[in-house]
Amino acid sequence: MKTECPRCKEKLEIDNANAGLKVTCPTCQHEFQCPEVKTNQPKKEVSAPNVTEKKLKEITKILYVGLIAFPLFGGSLSFISIIPKTYQYTITTTPDLELYEKLDFMGENGWEMVSARRASIDDNMTMAYEIIWKRPK
Ligand SMILES: [Zn+2]
Repeated sequence: MKTECPRCKEKLEIDNANAGLKVTCPTCQHEFQCPEVKTNQPKKEVSAPNVTEKKLKEITKILYVGLIAFPLFGGSLSFISIIPKTYQYTITTTPDLELYEKLDFMGENGWEMVSARRASIDDNMTMAYEIIWKRPK
């Protein structure tokens, strides 16, 4: 059986025959009473700390997500869903040829497309996308 010296905390392997008897720690020579052998204890002892450990891991995970999310949202508390997000909106009109460049540019600046429609912008039937964008304030 495994036990631990109450004085120096040395982990000790004790013969089951010595359970409940006085033993001497080989490290610090401290004499102490060896605990009784408990037959069906180990299973319970293993499962209880596992649950706690799991919960702790979950809490740690939530804390990490919070820590990562906080700076991402500019340090505001808007990542908590109960606080409604407010958006600002803008409308752009971009000719077809510049469209992909414009999409990249707007995306990099945090704009999210709300709607887009294609329309001619002059008498020569030059086509463009009129896009409505939003992003969190
Ligand atoms: Zn000891």
